[in-house]
Amino acid sequence: MYRKVEHSQTLFINTQTKKMVDQNKEVFRFGFGQSPFMPPQNVQSALREAIGHKEYSSVQGDPELREHIARFHFEHNGLRTRAEDVLVGPGSKILIFTLLMAVQEADVLIPAPAWVSYGPQAQLAGHHVITLPTSYEKRWRITVEALHRAVKSKKFANTILILNYPGNPDGLTYSREELMEISQVARTHRIIVVSDEIYGLLHHQNSHLSFAAFYPERTITTTGLSKWCGAGGWRLGAALLSEGLEPALKEALLGIGSETYSCAPVPVQMAAKVAYQDYKKIKPYISRQTQILKTIGNYCCEKLVTARIKVHPPEGGFYLFLDFSEWKDRLEKRGITTSNELCSALLEEKGVVLLPSEAFGFEPSFLGARLAYVDFDEPHEEESFVIKTHAPKIS
Ligand code: PLP
Repeated sequence: MYRKVEHSQTLFINTQTKKMVDQNKEVFRFGFGQSPFMPPQNVQSALREAIGHKEYSSVQGDPELREHIARFHFEHNGLRTRAEDVLVGPGSKILIFTLLMAVQEADVLIPAPAWVSYGPQAQLAGHHVITLPTSYEKRWRITVEALHRAVKSKKFANTILILNYPGNPDGLTYSREELMEISQVARTHRIIVVSDEIYGLLHHQNSHLSFAAFYPERTITTTGLSKWCGAGGWRLGAALLSEGLEPALKEALLGIGSETYSCAPVPVQMAAKVAYQDYKKIKPYISRQTQILKTIGNYCCEKLVTARIKVHPPEGGFYLFLDFSEWKDRLEKRGITTSNELCSALLEEKGVVLLPSEAFGFEPSFLGARLAYVDFDEPHEEESFVIKTHAPKIS
């Protein structure tokens, strides 16, 4: 009678972690991926001052905010979008779901590893999910060969490809050449591409490339305040529709939005106007974050490599994706054959919280896990960041 929708693995691990903390056990929190940084002071003040804005906005969002978002992304990396093609909503997650609802029967191509919510959202929207396999050797990036294969096994006329870079759970990005190649396949098959660039502003070298620049025909770029502005709980996301998309898609998105979420919280939209007002002014705030994230990410990566865990140095965001395949024999001898079992053992025996690769689209037998390196207190402006070297012993 009711839909069966599993709860997110993140929430499950949190409950388990909390139990251990309540029992006074030492816990190393690498499970939950949430920005440790506070929104800039002037953005916080703007939210406080906006509390009187109690009316609904239009479903598409405040026009001035949409202007700011369009200009901000142009100044950041040259992404060209007209303000009328920007949709603001209560988080990018619901905007991605709205998009999936707006397209009728489609094959949805989702790389593995990929963020936990794409698969369940595509299924809820009644689509056919095709997993695109990747490998450590190919830096967990999809290849054009895998794309061609997937397109051959399609069931429906419509195809949606979901890309996410810098990625959750891998912290990796695509090169210009890779994006170009993918865009050529997308063009040939008229694929609708959802390019989830929520970590784009947290590219560690500030050289994020937007997919829409390569494929302006049919790309929807999703982004928002959650990661670069440390404001996940504020719930403000944006979808930027590229110029070649049919007006009917925008109409469908606005129609679904008006029947479901109505609009993003209006005081948050007011604060977002300040956040998105001037990319150049806010750049030092973002650079400070990326410097810290890069330092911690590389530090963690070096330590893991010495323990024979396969991992690529991070390029953006705040995750590392760990491949324990070199530990396979040793783990099997201990009866550990799935990523869930691996993460449970790491939690129980070492107090280390990781998310199992099963949550990111892998077969249970693949021994992988996501590590989020963001559980630290935000340093004050005047402090330099010091890595505390107290860490679990790997054996
Ligand atoms: N996409 C990815 C890859 C994410 O990691 C997240 C948040 O964890 C989201 C989207 C959702 O972001 P929002 O807070 O804008 O809904």
